[in-house]
Amino acid sequence: MQSSLIGKIEKARRYAEEPGRIKFHEFTVEFHGEHNSYTVSYKERKWHCTCHFFSQWKLCSHTMALQQILAKMLPKEALTSPTTTTASTPHSPELTA
Ligand SMILES: [Zn+2]
Repeated sequence: MQSSLIGKIEKARRYAEEPGRIKFHEFTVEFHGEHNSYTVSYKERKWHCTCHFFSQWKLCSHTMALQQILAKMLPKEALTSPTTTTASTPHSPELTA
């Protein structure tokens, strides 16, 4: 029992170094911005944020920060934004900005 658990712990350590194995389908986080906290979520292939900027632009510094932080753990469609190409997406074929 003990030794098999040790094996799992070692495997977990290896997995933890390979975030690309994990893909978020959806999540909700509390994001502490400079002035306020916002609720940012990704659900049904769409980003949501409670900040004012997002309501106009459908993207914001919070969603873009999460795209960078979680880059390897987000599905491709979560890394592109429908309204802009300025977000840092290394594999984006259409860098028009
Ligand atoms: Zn926001």
